Amino acid sequence: MRNVDERDATGGFGRFFLPGPTEVRSEVLEAQAQAMIGHRGGDMHALVAELQLGLQRVFRTERPVFIGTCSATGFMEAAIRNGVRRRVLCLVNGAFSQRFHQIALACGVEADALEVPWGHAHDPVQVEHALSEGRHDAVTVVHSETSTGVLNPIAELSWVVHGFEGTLLLVDSVSGLCGAPVHTDQWALDFVLTGSQKAFALPPGLALAVASARLMERAAELSHRGIYFDLLEQQRSLDRQELPNTPAISLLYALRAQLRAIHEEGLTQRWERHRQMAVLVWNWVDWMRDGRGIPISILAAPPYRSPTVTCIRLPEAITGPALVQRMRARGFVIGAGYGKLKNETFRIGHMGDHTPESLELLLEALQEELVGR
Ligand SMILES: *Cc1c(COP(=O)(O)O)cnc(C)c1O
Repeated sequence: MRNVDERDATGGFGRFFLPGPTEVRSEVLEAQAQAMIGHRGGDMHALVAELQLGLQRVFRTERPVFIGTCSATGFMEAAIRNGVRRRVLCLVNGAFSQRFHQIALACGVEADALEVPWGHAHDPVQVEHALSEGRHDAVTVVHSETSTGVLNPIAELSWVVHGFEGTLLLVDSVSGLCGAPVHTDQWALDFVLTGSQKAFALPPGLALAVASARLMERAAELSHRGIYFDLLEQQRSLDRQELPNTPAISLLYALRAQLRAIHEEGLTQRWERHRQMAVLVWNWVDWMRDGRGIPISILAAPPYRSPTVTCIRLPEAITGPALVQRMRARGFVIGAGYGKLKNETFRIGHMGDHTPESLELLLEALQEELVGR
């Protein structure tokens, strides 16, 4: 049996399939070990300028991209503080979208949850119906629900939300962006945020986001923006090619290295690689069930499956945490179910810099574990 710490012929990469944090290539880890620069001088201006260009291409936007040295949850809070005037409709279909609702309540705005069962996606028609009551000035949604592997139809939802004047769409694409297509400007997203440790395949600790002009206008009218997540402050700093406060400079080095690699591969190629990895997992689950008689199934329905994470239902004989333990003994890291799905499911994070080839090795090991029992 191999141990996770043993490095094999692949250079050790390709064994860590947690749906966040994801595996980070050694080049990216090493990029962090560079000397400090002042955060108010020319070195920082050059760094921020390069990061802006790379990030704008990743977000498919011409707007500035905010860089927060906090985890993604920080920018979920920023979305609420800067984007909600009075009452927000929170689309809830899993643990992270539920958290968005809780953050809204904790920030002191009125918030209603529109819940659909975990494993389901949100239906634009149902959202339209909920908004027609005319009570909400913003909507939160999670693009790729990391707890269930569901991908919400963001473009369609944006179309519906923007049918209601003065209603903003706030999108958590933490496990989507960089792995699943996101067209910030074309889809007219008012706020879209992500974190560094999912499909970006960076160490945890950075939050990234884009705000529409409409959102920035609203933010200027609001008095509950606070300090640390005040997007006007972020904007003022970016105008000077700086970040507010002292940023995590080492993480910015990692981001610079990874952006160069992402654009070398090509963003659409990166999306395609993620699609291929997802299809590999989906076909494997079907084959295990129909070909090998192992009763496993994918929680999310086919048109709404995330290309970055798959949540798989287990037979009663084995729990998520037990399977995680067994795979660890084989030298692989996968995720147990999340929240209330902890025992009955497990999750594979097929995102970031993983490849179909390394994923196949994982699936072979999983197969031995599930069939061999
Ligand atoms: C991981 C994740 C978060 C939380 O990110 P942190 O960096 O831990 O704050 C939020 N939303 C989704 C969809 C996630 O996958």
